[in-house]
Amino acid sequence: MVDIDKEGKSTAESLRATRTYGKFRCHNPTCMERLEPKKGDKTIKCPTCGMEFRVAWVKDGFPRARGPVWEVNKKIAEEAFARKMKEKEQEEKAKEGK
Ligand SMILES: [Zn+2]
Repeated sequence: MVDIDKEGKSTAESLRATRTYGKFRCHNPTCMERLEPKKGDKTIKCPTCGMEFRVAWVKDGFPRARGPVWEVNKKIAEEAFARKMKEKEQEEKAKEGK
């Protein structure tokens, strides 16, 4: 009986050690940073690409990315777009020799 108890406990412990609950990957396909939100966090910002994601807690210590925070990610996309347009504008100006 003692052996069974011992085995049951060690199995549970090894399961706990191999689980990667508490983390999910950044949804930016060019980033894929591993994100680890703190308990109770509603959103998490990726330290690498700056995108922000809404966090859904499936259960305690088991977060899931629910989706991007559109206002933040849209701003990042718009800034990148504006930068590109400006570069293009300057390129064309240079071509025209003005
Ligand atoms: Zn990222």
